[in-house]
Amino acid sequence: MKILVTGGAGFIGSAVVRLAVARGHEVVNLDALTYAACLDNVADAAQSNLYSFEHADIRDRPTLDRIFSAHQPDAVMHLAAESHVDRSIDGPGDFIETNITGTYNMLEAARVYWVQAGKPDTFRFHHISTDEVFGSLPNDPTVQFTESTPYDPRSPYSASKAASDHLVRAWQETYGLPVVLTNCSNNYGPYHFPEKLIPVTILNALGGKPLPIYGDGSNIRDWLYVEDHADALLLVLEKGALGRSYNIGGENERTNLELVKTLCSILDDLRPRSDGKLYADQIEFVTDRPGHDARYAIDPSRIRDELGWRPSVTVEEGLRKTVKWYLDNEAWWQALLDRDGVGKRLGTG
Ligand code: NAD
Repeated sequence: MKILVTGGAGFIGSAVVRLAVARGHEVVNLDALTYAACLDNVADAAQSNLYSFEHADIRDRPTLDRIFSAHQPDAVMHLAAESHVDRSIDGPGDFIETNITGTYNMLEAARVYWVQAGKPDTFRFHHISTDEVFGSLPNDPTVQFTESTPYDPRSPYSASKAASDHLVRAWQETYGLPVVLTNCSNNYGPYHFPEKLIPVTILNALGGKPLPIYGDGSNIRDWLYVEDHADALLLVLEKGALGRSYNIGGENERTNLELVKTLCSILDDLRPRSDGKLYADQIEFVTDRPGHDARYAIDPSRIRDELGWRPSVTVEEGLRKTVKWYLDNEAWWQALLDRDGVGKRLGTG
């Protein structure tokens, strides 16, 4: 299959590109190379003749038309987005333009291409989204997000992603475009940009800096290893029912405080502090994020029962692999910290 992947130089997109190429798919990686991108994430895949790259912005419709016509993809996996909640609070404009208008442009470019190709029913437009569109859950383990949970986004990021999900469904209902959608919980793993909670914790710990935790650390997230997410995404693309959406989650709920403490104890084991103290001593509680959702939790029974998907690692295994990856790949994250003052913004550099 020839897959047009948008956002393939980002965290999850690059995991999709690596896995798709490893499985013998042809991949066209379309990415604007924003601050969050890093082409090193796909350096190995880029050696393959199955891989090609288009430096393009999904806000630029004529360029999208050219790319569809030049590459004639069998499917689209649309991941390109502005993805960081804190940045969406500081400056929502880019989130509206890329996540909403950019998705609209992708849908229209895909629709025109699909119509010109005679509306093949094998074509797929796979829209990749987040569980944050469902809002915030109470701390009650019997309640989880299902595919029929009403949308209730609460941050500019999640509102922009919710809008994009609605557009995708509308393009199927109105024009018959063959779509599938997925909504996933928080990802973690290798190549995670150093502004997100897990890399910030690892890198600040190693740098002897405070480990910031919003509020009292009681916010709960469900965590999924990024390579398991990529595997689920390819499965939905190949076997998911047309027009259906699938929730993807790891069934690994942790409070932020528990998560950071787990990372600290893995670091204590793999790279003990030279002064004999524990990394958890560096934890510092900071003013909470405005509108901070209390809990996200995914019920993944549809993708498990219908498509037979299960995560391959537990969160403990995945976090250990992740910490080890950051310890072994300092050149990758140091280059990003040095870029455009990213490290200064985070207090990690
Ligand atoms: P990321 O920020 O790491 O990567 C986004 C990529 O999109 C970057 O390579 C960036 O250059 C590219 N991009 C941004 N704006 C663009 C534009 N206008 N045109 C073309 N390319 C552009 O994001 P991520 O964490 O890998 O998330 C990927 C997708 O998965 C997003 O749609 C996000 O909403 C969704 N998602 C993320 C998570 C998570 O935990 N990170 C969870 C569920 C869903």
